Amino acid sequence: EPLLRLRGVDKVYASGTVALRGLDLDIGERQFISLLGPSGCGKSTALRLIAGLGRHSGGSIDWPGRGFVPGDLGFVFQEPTLMPWASVWDNVFLPLRLRDRPRAQVAAEVDAALDLVGLSGFAKAFPRELSGGMRMRVSIARALVMKPRLLLMDEPFAALDEITRQKLCDDLLGIWRKAGCTVVFVTHSVYESVYLSARIVVMAARPGRIIGEMAVEEPYPRD
Ligand code: ADP
Ligand code: ADP
Repeated sequence: EPLLRLRGVDKVYASGTVALRGLDLDIGERQFISLLGPSGCGKSTALRLIAGLGRHSGGSIDWPGRGFVPGDLGFVFQEPTLMPWASVWDNVFLPLRLRDRPRAQVAAEVDAALDLVGLSGFAKAFPRELSGGMRMRVSIARALVMKPRLLLMDEPFAALDEITRQKLCDDLLGIWRKAGCTVVFVTHSVYESVYLSARIVVMAARPGRIIGEMAVEEPYPRD
């Protein structure tokens, strides 16, 4: 059974814009899927609906396995939404704050998440002291610290320079393997989708819909 199942999902905004029409998609455990398509084809809308940020107009979105529980979902946006007044460590700690667990255990989880993204040495730094790529790593650590089963990424590298983007693409694959979660990666970059994912779902606009799917068999050396 897939982790997530979308059937005939429609989204019509209050403005009348038909953002999605009849989206059918099964997303399996531990997959790395790219949603690829031009601007305006409904990629972000699809991601937000999966995240429960807004309601679809028709069709169904289900977690057929053991269902959805809080913490199953991590979200990384293009703009890292970090708290400027909090250290890197505190930013990653934030999602765990409400969990009633021993401090030492929580601290170990924050440390592990920072280690996963290669930022162990920057726990005490503040977001403004970091490069764009490092801030993105903090965002990824914050999304993964809850150990979600599904990580949603919305054009996460679009605002980064080419060299940083390439390095993050490489590192994201290692992070994904260690985290053991499913990733849905939204991008308009054919390069990113082919480089990162074995499965590429291609979308088109007006109305937003899926027009095809590609399987990529290890196009680049991955280790
Ligand atoms: P993408 O992420 O592929 O660029 P979006 O999901 O952002 O596409 O947008 C799909 C369509 O829905 C576009 O025509 C866009 O203008 C429209 N849209 C997105 N968000 C809203 C909104 N909050 N209200 C009205 N229309 C929206
Ligand atoms: P019902 O839940 O009885 O089907 P609703 O009008 O509450 O009727 O919901 C319409 C559709 O939107 C349903 O398919 C429902 O699963 C879905 N839905 C409801 N709430 C959300 C949400 N927060 N995020 C995404 N989809 C939702």
